[in-house]
Amino acid sequence: METKMASDVCSHVKVVVRVRPANDSEKRENCRNVVQVVDNHMLIFDPKEEDLSCFGSQRVRNRNINKKANKDLKFVFDLVFDENATQVDIFENTTKGVLDGVMNGFNCTVFAYGATGAGKTHTMLGSQNDPGVMYRTMKELFKRMDDAKEEKEFAVAFSYLEVYNEQIRDLLANAGPLAVREDSSKGVVVQGLTLHKPKSAEQILEALDSGNRNRTQHPTDMNATSSRSHAVFQIYLRQQDKTASLNHNVCVAKMSLIDLAGSERASATNAKGARLREGANINRSLLALGNVINALADPKSKKAHIPYRDSKLTRILKDSLGGNCRTVMIANVSPSSKSYDDTHNTLKYANRAKEIKSSLKSNVVSLDSHIGQYAVVCEKQRQEIMQLKQKLKEYETKSTGAGAFSTISSQKQEEFKRTNMACYLKTA
Ligand code: ADP
Ligand code: MG
Repeated sequence: METKMASDVCSHVKVVVRVRPANDSEKRENCRNVVQVVDNHMLIFDPKEEDLSCFGSQRVRNRNINKKANKDLKFVFDLVFDENATQVDIFENTTKGVLDGVMNGFNCTVFAYGATGAGKTHTMLGSQNDPGVMYRTMKELFKRMDDAKEEKEFAVAFSYLEVYNEQIRDLLANAGPLAVREDSSKGVVVQGLTLHKPKSAEQILEALDSGNRNRTQHPTDMNATSSRSHAVFQIYLRQQDKTASLNHNVCVAKMSLIDLAGSERASATNAKGARLREGANINRSLLALGNVINALADPKSKKAHIPYRDSKLTRILKDSLGGNCRTVMIANVSPSSKSYDDTHNTLKYANRAKEIKSSLKSNVVSLDSHIGQYAVVCEKQRQEIMQLKQKLKEYETKSTGAGAFSTISSQKQEEFKRTNMACYLKTA
């Protein structure tokens, strides 16, 4: 049961939602706020507009009967961050925990999901002044390696690639599209992808920045500088015990931090021709990603086919999703009515990913039911203990009687025996 538990915990997908602040144009156009963050775990999409009680009857009479009722949908996630959440808050509550997995040799993956302009790149990459998850992860990794340098020897490398229109490109080298293949010993390998050995976390920040300038960007109506590609930043960590022993355990783990392309539907960006095809490819990868996560997490489909081959993105991530991997999804949304459909779709996608956790939980539920049975067992044992205590008490009372006998002087005992003997002789 322990192994089962361990694998369940590892394939648990943590889903968090980050709501970005309204931007200038949303504020200017006086857009309605359609996301209400209730607390750390809950948000309401398209909340009911509050009736002020003193105007209540007036409002009812004046209500626009053509207006659709608010959806007022409540969503619950592992964590919900409102517009005031800082880059540090996001890192501390998402990726930092995943780093434990990497240090223990698990492959881990963190995705930023959401429509264009929802804040994915801000979350993953951030800016020089306020760096995001990628840089903070490396900084923390350097700290942890330093903390453990007496016991372990580390080697760390990173790569940065993009998947654009179902083609893989190295963002840190000028080369043509790369092929992906599977190696029996090394796992998934992107042929010709450059690996870089960082000397410091700062060096990575520079690499990320220059890599990001190489990303395929196409202005769409939604966001002029938004990228239409999936950016995959991977960190490889190799560690070996320094202690003198016969078997030097080598542990290798890969961490993938991914800034996904916008999840909006092609129609939303007014896309035509090449842009529409591009949109279809982006969605193909996202769809494949959703299908892979779903298939992996469904306990009923353990042996079923996992559709990794359906897209380049899922092929690259074949050894970084499921199995011994930990996954975090950061769903980014805009708070504004301007992005009503995108926000709704993102919340639905994230909610499905959260269902994965529920279905895993259902395995735990069967475990919970054992725990439920413990309560029954405990109650039975309690009753048994009560009965035994009662018996012991009775026995003690009896034996106190016998004990009393022993405290009677031996002279009296002799007398008692004689009397009994006399009685016996009499009756005999
Ligand atoms: P995406 O990558 O999802 O297309 P971006 O990360 O580029 O979106 O965000 C769009 C704009 O909103 C950027 O100018 C970015 O700086 C800003 N932004 C996004 N999230 C936040 C946030 N949490 N706080 C402040 N500004 C943000
Ligand atoms: Mg972006």
